[in-house]
Amino acid sequence: MAKNDKKSSKLKRAKRGDDSTPKKKQSRVKAKVTNDEPWYADGLRFTCTQCGDCCSGEPGYVWVDQSEIDAMASVMGIEVEEFEHKFVRQVGIDRSLVEYPDGDCILLDPQTRRCTVYEARPIQCRTWPFWDSNLNRKKDWNETCQVCPGAGSGRLYSLEEIEHARSKKSV
Ligand code: SF4
Repeated sequence: MAKNDKKSSKLKRAKRGDDSTPKKKQSRVKAKVTNDEPWYADGLRFTCTQCGDCCSGEPGYVWVDQSEIDAMASVMGIEVEEFEHKFVRQVGIDRSLVEYPDGDCILLDPQTRRCTVYEARPIQCRTWPFWDSNLNRKKDWNETCQVCPGAGSGRLYSLEEIEHARSKKSV
């Protein structure tokens, strides 16, 4: 879902999803609700190149709930308590995955650049790049394409698929 100055800003901000950065300010703001179709009504292209950039870079947040934590612990074959102790941090009333000092996600294999819990990755990661913060305006999407090599090319996702992804979590 995305860590920068290594990369830039977008993923980073996305990952952050907080108030410290304009974009990923985890813009919980949904696209303008109108009777008109969104600007991406014809769909958007995306195919992950598995570069790992959305999981690395400057500090940010990957929000997780208990069911996601349970699933990741299961995939790793460890107890939930152990997973929480090693990989989860409390942020106010919410919880986020721990990061390495450089901002990389603790679950990103530094050698392979692959997610170590890919099959059970959190919804925030699954729905990238179809986040509210990336879709509010075409300009936001264009910025996303600048930091994610998979965005803007590859498989064409339909409006329905995009809206379904957005509905899963506001990021
Ligand atoms: S192509 Fe995009 S979604 Fe895939 S790993 Fe790279 S930055 Fe993340």
